[in-house]
Amino acid sequence: MTTIIAPKGTKDMLPAQAHKWHYVEKAFAEICDKYGFKEVRTPLFEHTELFRRGVGDTTDIVQKEMYTFNDYAGRSITLKPEGTSPVTRAFIEHKQYAEVQPTKYYYITPCFRYEKPQSGRLRAFHQFGIEIFGTPNMLADSECICLGYDFLHKMGLHDVKLKINSVGCPTCRQKHREALRKFLEPVYDQLCGTCKDRFERNPMRILDCKSEICQDLVKDAPDMLDYLCDECHDAFEDVKSNLDAMGVEYIVDPRIVRGLDYYTKTAFEFVIDSNGTQGTVCGGGRYDHLIEEIGGPPIPGVGFGLGIERLLMLMDQYGIEIPEPEPVKVFIAVMGDDAKKFGIKLIRELRNHGVKAEMDTLARNIKGQFKYADRLGAQYTIVIGDNELAEGVVSVKEMATSTQTQVKLEDLTKELTK
Ligand code: ATP
Ligand code: MG
Repeated sequence: MTTIIAPKGTKDMLPAQAHKWHYVEKAFAEICDKYGFKEVRTPLFEHTELFRRGVGDTTDIVQKEMYTFNDYAGRSITLKPEGTSPVTRAFIEHKQYAEVQPTKYYYITPCFRYEKPQSGRLRAFHQFGIEIFGTPNMLADSECICLGYDFLHKMGLHDVKLKINSVGCPTCRQKHREALRKFLEPVYDQLCGTCKDRFERNPMRILDCKSEICQDLVKDAPDMLDYLCDECHDAFEDVKSNLDAMGVEYIVDPRIVRGLDYYTKTAFEFVIDSNGTQGTVCGGGRYDHLIEEIGGPPIPGVGFGLGIERLLMLMDQYGIEIPEPEPVKVFIAVMGDDAKKFGIKLIRELRNHGVKAEMDTLARNIKGQFKYADRLGAQYTIVIGDNELAEGVVSVKEMATSTQTQVKLEDLTKELTK
């Protein structure tokens, strides 16, 4: 029979990587807790309509990247391509806006996008995300940015650059859109296929195109920042002055866009030099009209998404060391049936006392058990045989130094939990 392999663009996490995931997950949860964010979990799939509204019909994601299928009752279902729309749906559905505001959520979630797989770009990947609902104040935007900044630095990515921009509001963006169309009209034929499409529906996204030709064409395009209305201008100044007060360094980059009508004002990305692979590790911004778009009350929001595979890949590239998992503390080697029974009781007792303990389950001979203990990296090995049981004393061998200590059986747990 042919062997079955994992679908293209997916990746297994094997035990050798697990401690790295645990490390970043724990660090993210801890920093979110410090900043007052609470965890939410939503289902892996939602009604397709949620993403059509929440991500937007004109985006690449909705147009060609979603894993959409009909369930047996004929409902259109989509595996979540991002985290913001589902948690926004949950916020509305459970009327969390009736609680004390703002609402601060964080999440760790798988995401699914049918993209062209490459290093740092998968079809099934994972995101950390945060959202603040219920405040129009730019301090919320600045706090989101500051959390991302602190987290990435805590993970050792000190070379990361923060790029910020404002995409204005629907009113001032309309003027920019016209100017942008006018600027691009003469070079329309040279735009890539996707951008020709964007030209009609959402020209701001062209600024974000990854094709070098398009990048070149928009080099001197009109900047949104020159078109901001007074309110959006003041808001952007406010974000910058908050970041200054926080000591968070940033670069103003008018190419950072979140090109949807419900995205407003602040847009940001954390980018790092990445040896040719994907260097954008985190992206976010404000969405003052998203909650309404999904059917909720007019409540503003702001947040970010951070790719976990990209984060780990970059930490690896930058040689950032992640603490190794705790080694096996004690291996119990047994000779004979009585010793085995004693070993079974002892290992249970040790584990119940919080000691990481192992024994052989393959009926290896004593030499094999020692070898196995070595392979497991056990700190101590205890041999139990008929003699030891009769005398009530065992020798505890420290593997690194080969030193042996005699310990009474009844004192073993006490000794090993010291
Ligand atoms: P990109 O411009 O790289 O395509 P994006 O703008 O589509 O990213 P967002 O939707 O803002 O990304 O998602 C937030 C983060 O999720 C990204 O900064 C990235 O770290 C990660 N991410 C996005 N798409 C993928 C993917 N296909 N594989 C792995 N990580 C991804
Ligand atoms: Mg993308």
